[in-house]
Amino acid sequence: MLPWFDALFGQLTGRFLAARLHHALLLAGPAGIGKARFAVALAQMVLCRQTATSGACGSCQSCQLFAANTHPDFHMLQSEKQLGVDAVRGGIATLGATAQLGHNKVLLIKGADTMTESASNALLKTLEEPTNNTFIILLTDKLTRLLPTILSRCEKHKLGVPAVSESLAWLQEQGCEDVDEALLQAYGYAPLRVQAAVADSNALSFRAYSDGFAQLMTGDITPLALATKWQDNASQIVTWCQQQAYKAYCQRQQRQDLACFERCQQAIASLQHPGINKAVVLCGVLEQFAAA
Ligand SMILES: [Zn+2]
Repeated sequence: MLPWFDALFGQLTGRFLAARLHHALLLAGPAGIGKARFAVALAQMVLCRQTATSGACGSCQSCQLFAANTHPDFHMLQSEKQLGVDAVRGGIATLGATAQLGHNKVLLIKGADTMTESASNALLKTLEEPTNNTFIILLTDKLTRLLPTILSRCEKHKLGVPAVSESLAWLQEQGCEDVDEALLQAYGYAPLRVQAAVADSNALSFRAYSDGFAQLMTGDITPLALATKWQDNASQIVTWCQQQAYKAYCQRQQRQDLACFERCQQAIASLQHPGINKAVVLCGVLEQFAAA
């Protein structure tokens, strides 16, 4: 379990053991803090045949099936873009059937904010009249996009980013060395995003960005040369530039920092357009910083 979820996990496990766990849990919080891992651990705990105060036993038949990703009473829905009514109905149908292991059933919906209105309405009925021994766990990083009727029928848990020291300690344990607060900040203080970035050798590292940016400031590289080099990571670069401008503006309240910030904002919008010349957009941003 991710250490920052220990307390809540213990609390929910205690309520489950006392048969007082709400049948619909909504976990909301920023991307990259491990909501899905937390939800999966909750699901395993609810399905385990020998749940203890510390959570699932890890050895019963249910836990073994769960570990093998073949648990017949655990279903997960997720979609890159949109969760339609058919997918949600399919998920609900699994809750209506008798649990194959004769115990509980869990439906996990990742990105619950991507449900269409008709999908939400289909789910609503199940939330209002839950079948026996069923638990629904909804995850979202865009809480405000959920229908109020869904929100009102779930027990909501708003999860924030972990404390910096906790994230750094955890990242070290995962073998991510050389991670500091600046890097954590560059990824919105979301430790799993940092972990993914460190693991992704294709991604431009924050350190490479910092070094390149320093060269830009000393005039050792031109905005165009740097933009050409970085164009494949343009969105990430502009996001980092924007954070840097914001930080600078907060510290010294200079007009040029605000101009840089606004330039980044425009660039982020421009980069959304398919077919845009990323190097040109990025070059414009870097020129603004070089001139500031
Ligand atoms: Zn078990």
